Amino acid sequence: MEIGKILQSQRDFFKTQQTKSLAFRKMYLEKLRNLIISHESLLYEAIDKDFGKSRFDTFTTEISFVLKDIDYYLKNLKTLSKPKKVSTNLANQLGNSKIYSDPLGCILVIGAWNYPYQLSLSPIIAAMAAGNCCILKPSEIAENTMKAMSKIINENFPPEYLYVYEGGVDETTALLQLKFDKIFFTGSTKVGKIVYKAAAEHLTPVVLELGGKSPAIVTKEANLEIAAKRIVWGKFLNAGQTCVAPDYLLIEETIQEQFLETVRKYIKEFKYETDSEQYTRIINVKNFHRLTNLIDQEKIYFGGNFNEEKLYIEPTILNNIDWNDPVMEEEIFGPILPVISFNNFNMAVNTVLEQEKPLAAYLFSNNSEEKEIFTRKLSFGGGCINDCVMHLSNDHLPFGGVGSSGIGSYHGKYGFETFSHQKSVLEKTTWGEPNIKYPPYSEKKLSWIKKLL
Ligand code: NAD
Repeated sequence: MEIGKILQSQRDFFKTQQTKSLAFRKMYLEKLRNLIISHESLLYEAIDKDFGKSRFDTFTTEISFVLKDIDYYLKNLKTLSKPKKVSTNLANQLGNSKIYSDPLGCILVIGAWNYPYQLSLSPIIAAMAAGNCCILKPSEIAENTMKAMSKIINENFPPEYLYVYEGGVDETTALLQLKFDKIFFTGSTKVGKIVYKAAAEHLTPVVLELGGKSPAIVTKEANLEIAAKRIVWGKFLNAGQTCVAPDYLLIEETIQEQFLETVRKYIKEFKYETDSEQYTRIINVKNFHRLTNLIDQEKIYFGGNFNEEKLYIEPTILNNIDWNDPVMEEEIFGPILPVISFNNFNMAVNTVLEQEKPLAAYLFSNNSEEKEIFTRKLSFGGGCINDCVMHLSNDHLPFGGVGSSGIGSYHGKYGFETFSHQKSVLEKTTWGEPNIKYPPYSEKKLSWIKKLL
């Protein structure tokens, strides 16, 4: 069916009010949960075909995330949907005030390829929990995972409620001509701008989950073993194709050598080798070439090997980097870690302040003053002290960017709020009506009003 007609059918279905009932939302969230579990093998196979991701990584970073989201909303749906009673001001006594979480209507979710299940289904799950109808357009770059999601959803859900629309740039461009009640986009800043412009035509609100260059700062006050282990994991997970991966390392000069040796040790220990099943491939030849062009042979401290046939790039550390190096121009989004050294913590923080606001930032230090400076001075979407990437696994924290790394947030109750309108309702009694606000006005009324307000 033509996509405009599917959207119209969703509009008509939304008007029937069925998606507003908690029983309806729970039924379909449970259905999705069961379908994901019964199709687990299909999901693993599809992602493995797309970019050789291990079952372990797919489970921990994708499937478990999505199941956890469904469980969270199944457990908390009643509380989240309950009208919230708030205080009522003096001018509105005798009355009461409530905020209703109203579903927005028809949602468009546009997904990215790097965590194709999580980044497509997590927003869908939050939108379903909030009582909306949705169209999902996954990334065509991970074609097999797109087809797997389309099979699972389109064969089991009514299209007037939930529908997966397969396609690339042309299909997304056509979708963006239509009027949705919210667009949730995950992807690059460049395409984010296209989405924002198209949404503006219809005054459609957007969530833009974008990227950026996320720094990891390591000072001499850090636990170097733990810092190296966690950075190696966070950077090379998914072969660096993670939006919140540390993009570059800022390291205190006095510990640089010792730290990089520890990084080398962990890369070897984690067995990130050409034929390793532990290590993900680069998504396609275009990205492979973009990344290998960033490897400056003169600056390789570790790694630098690659294999085009297998789309493998070895975890690579580039040392003695400065801000003029090509690798510092754009988000890397691959297994290359440039290292810039500093000898003054405040100056290092100031260099981050000079850049666009990143999606994430990480500090490895046990010094309370450094932690305070990092947290208070820098603006970033979210981050960690003494860890990386893991903040996004905590549903009690909103996940999203700031400035050029994004607009809006989701996860847990923030996802529910993102797909709801907070509708204010003041209810008044019909007895006890003071005449003070009504004309004819007088000096006496004014003096009373001044006292009251
Ligand atoms: P992308 O912007 O190329 O594509 C994202 C989506 O936009 C895809 O569904 C694609 O079909 C569509 N698209 C591409 N070009 C388009 C166009 N001209 N017009 C309309 N739609 C178009 O991003 P990607 O390569 O899939 O993902 C990588 C980027 O996403 C990185 O910058 C990364 O940091 C970011 N990202 C952010 C998050 C986050 O949660 N903030 C998560 C993952 C990835």
